[in-house]
Amino acid sequence: MPELPDLEVMREVLAERVLDRPMLSARACRPDILKTVAPPLDALSGTAFRAVGRIGKHLILTVRDDLHVVVHLMVAGRLVLTGSHTKVTKATGFLVSFVDGEDLRLVENGSIKRANVHLVADPADVDRVARAGVEPLSDQFTAEFLAQRFAEERRQVKKAITDPSWIGGIGTAYADEILFAAKLSPIRYTNTLKKDELERLCVATREVLRAGIEATRARSKGSLVSDDARAAMRIYGRAGEPCPVCGDPIAEIRFAETRTFYCPHCQAGDKTIADRRSWLRR
Ligand SMILES: [Zn+2]
Repeated sequence: MPELPDLEVMREVLAERVLDRPMLSARACRPDILKTVAPPLDALSGTAFRAVGRIGKHLILTVRDDLHVVVHLMVAGRLVLTGSHTKVTKATGFLVSFVDGEDLRLVENGSIKRANVHLVADPADVDRVARAGVEPLSDQFTAEFLAQRFAEERRQVKKAITDPSWIGGIGTAYADEILFAAKLSPIRYTNTLKKDELERLCVATREVLRAGIEATRARSKGSLVSDDARAAMRIYGRAGEPCPVCGDPIAEIRFAETRTFYCPHCQAGDKTIADRRSWLRR
């Protein structure tokens, strides 16, 4: 699933590649990908994107103050630029054709199609954009903010930092990297975190996401799809490999579709977290 660093680099590449190119038309190849009816898609014909933004995991392509395309790629969605003459495959959910003969296409492989597109007068018309949490690379994201938020509710810290209505853009992979860098167990309860632990979490979040952006940017080389950006991850997907800090084997907890990677020595006081099926639900 694309997370903040992936989306931030996509935003940069889109800003390089699609702005000010007149659009011929837009089409929802999979009708239910488009979640809005007004304004209609042909409102895009003859216009051009003037800015590309990001709020949480949403990319926002702005035509003018009162016309925006809001894209959420969900788990498997990708954006590709390709010649308009190229065959539109079944995986293509949505496309914009530029007058110059190229398309921007939203492609989603696999049987479950969850990516979505909204055409709106105001990005906040999209419910999840309106309810988006604080941006972790913004000035509002501080240890004080975390202390305030975390005092309100008893939740496991991984669950809390991946909740898009609390903090934008962090998914399961970067959450594991952040908690590893902060030396915090993913199942610690938020209301038990002490001041110095909140400071560590705050600093680790910024550092891991910034490093993730740099690594993804370097691998993308100006293209929308970067080759295996996750190769730069220190712990995610590396169960059984030695921890890069202490050398002990990295452990994994599985719950439904979510996998959590952590170092029992560095993050959990040498305790292996029992693979309880219920733990992520609490
Ligand atoms: Zn370790």
